[in-house]
Amino acid sequence: MKSKHRVVIVGAGPAGSVCGYLLKKAGIECVIVDFATFPRDKICGGGLTPKAYALLQELEPRLRYKYQGVNRFRLMMDGKTLCVVNLDKELRMVQRKDFDYKLLKQYLEAGGETIKDSFSSFEELDNGGIDVTLASGRHLLCDYLVAADGSNSRVRRQLPGKNSGNTLWMEQYVAKSTNEFVFEFSNSYKKGYFFSFPGMEHDAIGMGGFYSSPKEIRNQLDSNTIRTSDRNQGGRLVGANISIDTVDSGKDNVLLIGDAGGFANKLTYEGLYYAIATARNACNAIVEGKIFAVANRHMFRRKRKEIFIANLCYSRLGLWLCKLAAHSPYIIKKAFEKYY
Ligand SMILES: Cc1cc2nc3c(=O)[nH]c(=O)nc-3n(C[C@H](O)[C@H](O)[C@H](O)COP(=O)(O)OP(=O)(O)OC[C@H]3O[C@@H](n4cnc5c(N)ncnc54)[C@H](O)[C@@H]3O)c2cc1C
Repeated sequence: MKSKHRVVIVGAGPAGSVCGYLLKKAGIECVIVDFATFPRDKICGGGLTPKAYALLQELEPRLRYKYQGVNRFRLMMDGKTLCVVNLDKELRMVQRKDFDYKLLKQYLEAGGETIKDSFSSFEELDNGGIDVTLASGRHLLCDYLVAADGSNSRVRRQLPGKNSGNTLWMEQYVAKSTNEFVFEFSNSYKKGYFFSFPGMEHDAIGMGGFYSSPKEIRNQLDSNTIRTSDRNQGGRLVGANISIDTVDSGKDNVLLIGDAGGFANKLTYEGLYYAIATARNACNAIVEGKIFAVANRHMFRRKRKEIFIANLCYSRLGLWLCKLAAHSPYIIKKAFEKYY
């Protein structure tokens, strides 16, 4: 069976749903393919930064979702508090199961269609179109293929030389007891950080970094001070990759967005803002007939800057500077607010 579509989007996470919704609003026919049954969960701290919720508000002012506002964060180094900062703008803690479903429903209410199936492969046709094959054997013919299928993107894996470097992040849900974010750096753990995030129903603690194996992460967690006693109370320790090598497909009609394109922040590994922003840019590229590399150029430029900042921050010098700056919570607050 072959059906013809203007745009096929693989993945109904925030990147895919927002892209689909904006395309529908612009009058462009599209379909989203996802193998999951929604509402589905996603391993994630669920922190929506001010720039992320401001962008969502700009794209759809009527969107409503449940969240818990948090205004305080604590910066730690090897078990010691360096500073506590009160933020002017809250971070919004969402539950991904609920939040992602809200975004998907927005797309469906705009008349969007979904197909519950798994993307298998795509083939470029002589007429410039694309033939997408799904696991069920179904074929979708389209003008554009948007890959929004997350960190382990199968679409991306089919593009020669575009496989991604991943960081591994582990997370455990523990009883709710904190109302502040904790970020802890360590001299023994160079390319990442520990975190404790307050959630609506539970708190999330975990850590992540580049080249980390599950074993290394578990050992590090054991030596870390963040709510160690809670971790022994039978919480669930789970892990997920975040792809951090940002790539462009090199093809005008295959667009990689969100985690599939490796757009998460190289320093903080925040991903939701970047999923939404690249979804908007993909929609603009399709609507205006522009090349994605052009419509998304600010994001590609930003990623290059982030690599420089991340290398500095996770270096010996960077950690030392961080410690020094922490004597002035004002500087930390300004740096944090600039990023978030
Ligand atoms: C431990 C951890 C904590 C994090 N904390 C935060 C945080 O606090 N704040 C923040 O902003 N970001 C955070 N992130 C990053 C954030 O979760 C991601 O950046 C975000 O989910 C990316 O959205 P996406 O739509 O690109 O991909 P996803 O949300 O991963 O959605 C991809 C979708 O594609 C579908 N899919 C995959 N393969 C196929 C296939 N072959 N066929 C069909 N469908 C497919 C999946 O079912 C899924 O629904 C965290 C990540 C981790 C791992």
